[in-house]
Amino acid sequence: MAVASARRTGSNRIANFKESVIREMTRLALAHGAVNLAQGFPDFAAPAEIKGAAQEAIAEDVNQYAITWGSKPFRRAIADYYRRFYALEIDPETEITVCCGATEGMVASMLALLNPGDEVVVFEPFYENYWPDSLLSGAVCRYVPLHAPEWTFDPQELRSAFNAKTRAVIVNSPNNPTGRVFSRDELNAIAELCREHDCFLLTDEIYEHIIFDGERHIPAMTLPGMRERSVLVNSLSKTFSVTGWRVGWVIAAPELTASIRKVHDFLTVGAAAPLQQAGVTALALPDRYFAELAQTYETKRNLLVGILQKAGFRCFLPKGAYYILCDIAAFPFRDDVAFCRHLLEVAGVAAVPGSSFFSRAEDGARLIRFCFAKKLETLEAAAERLDRLTG
Ligand code: GLN
Repeated sequence: MAVASARRTGSNRIANFKESVIREMTRLALAHGAVNLAQGFPDFAAPAEIKGAAQEAIAEDVNQYAITWGSKPFRRAIADYYRRFYALEIDPETEITVCCGATEGMVASMLALLNPGDEVVVFEPFYENYWPDSLLSGAVCRYVPLHAPEWTFDPQELRSAFNAKTRAVIVNSPNNPTGRVFSRDELNAIAELCREHDCFLLTDEIYEHIIFDGERHIPAMTLPGMRERSVLVNSLSKTFSVTGWRVGWVIAAPELTASIRKVHDFLTVGAAAPLQQAGVTALALPDRYFAELAQTYETKRNLLVGILQKAGFRCFLPKGAYYILCDIAAFPFRDDVAFCRHLLEVAGVAAVPGSSFFSRAEDGARLIRFCFAKKLETLEAAAERLDRLTG
């Protein structure tokens, strides 16, 4: 039988794509009946108000396409939300594109704004999607290390990552997987380089409300001179515990938004109409909701850090997002992948190998990531199982 040629089984563009290790870990966790602390999603209920709003929207027959770049009421709710939290004035008519999750928001923005050969500065470790997103846009990632244990960058290393081809920088703060919250000074240093080199600043702000120890989230768009060149990506997923809804948005100046909307239109047409309607309710929830979200997650963080330390892990304490990165050097395993396999098969707990967040696997070989967006029972079940590691 003739072997199908590479040309017929996949394009050159995706030749180096690998399966998402994060999502693979969820499948393995299900197959092994393991406690899943791998993929970042909550295992607890979404707020009743927003579930009710989604049900009502469907019953009221909000079941056809919304306007491609987002239903009017939802875009208005997004604008109100940014005024309320950050005193940012956004024009819902010209500066918002509602997308299928922040994932689409990021890739649509990159496809809209980058050309083949352009370079994108990415802080490493990084959320795994940025690399394939860049590749799909024909752009090349240039990595700048975040240094443990604080996960800060060296301003000199950042500066030397810029050259004539640099067209964009991606910042994810609060950061997945390190939990680092970028300071105003750090954001200003990045912004200055973006202005100097005429680059876009793409910010993935999906964990904005999951933030601890009195830290504050700062949208880079609010910094001096950054309104025109910032592209803010966010979604309902993490703030409202609805990762399966796939409703996100991109905020950018009108000329940039016009380009992003062109890509979005042909890529997905639009995000789920009834869920956009429920999004209006979500974004208008009282301040109390957002404060409680952060407090609840802080309690879960502290609980899981205690559990992991007891099991012998060295944890990097996250200041935001819902992951704990751990150093596994004290355990006698070849690398992060071998350790995660052992953890899954012997303890029955799924985590993500650190190498998923690095361009060179060896740089993440001593790290693994646990997610604490879980019910207390789930975290306690994990604690019992982790006892099998040491006991
Ligand atoms: N952002 C989440 C994580 O890092 C979910 C990833 C995904 O599967 N899209 O685990």
